[in-house]
Amino acid sequence: MIKAIKGDITKLEVDAIVNAANELMLGGGGVDGAIHDAAGDELFEACLKVPEVRPGVRCPTGQARITPGFKLPAKFVIHTVGPVYLDGKHGESAKLGNCYRNSLALALENNCKSIAFPCISTGIYGYPIEEAAEIACSEAKAFLAQHENIEIVFCCFLNRDKIIYDKLLAQ
Ligand code: ADP
Repeated sequence: MIKAIKGDITKLEVDAIVNAANELMLGGGGVDGAIHDAAGDELFEACLKVPEVRPGVRCPTGQARITPGFKLPAKFVIHTVGPVYLDGKHGESAKLGNCYRNSLALALENNCKSIAFPCISTGIYGYPIEEAAEIACSEAKAFLAQHENIEIVFCCFLNRDKIIYDKLLAQ
């Protein structure tokens, strides 16, 4: 099942919430900061322990890493790094698609039955919400066609975003 809701992702009682992290994985602004604040310092400590694949990079763009949720109602946080949107001609859509695909694969590996996504890359990273939501919905639908037993929630912080998701999901 796929649905869009309006709300704060840190409040959701799902098996996993997805964080729109950066490659360093030690917190940041927007949803990343909200998740770290709500999960507590243990999340920071767990992120520190994620090995760097190269200096300053724990999670390359498009990939995903999992940690416990600590003080969050969610069991896990899946950290993924969306692309910074330049002009749409720098592989942004493939990278954003990878975020959804890799996050869903990690959720499956960890037996999650429910997962909630924020609108990855559409804040500070500047990805146009219509295009980003299309990618999110098509990846979610493709995943559900293979693995039925998982609930995918798009957690929109803005009304505008929920309206866009609702339209796409009704199609
Ligand atoms: P990015 O750097 O990937 O663009 P941002 O955190 O700047 O990440 O924005 C991603 C999305 O997260 C935006 O749509 C923003 O409105 C949303 N957002 C911010 N705080 C929360 C929250 N507490 N719960 C859900 N979504 C949030």
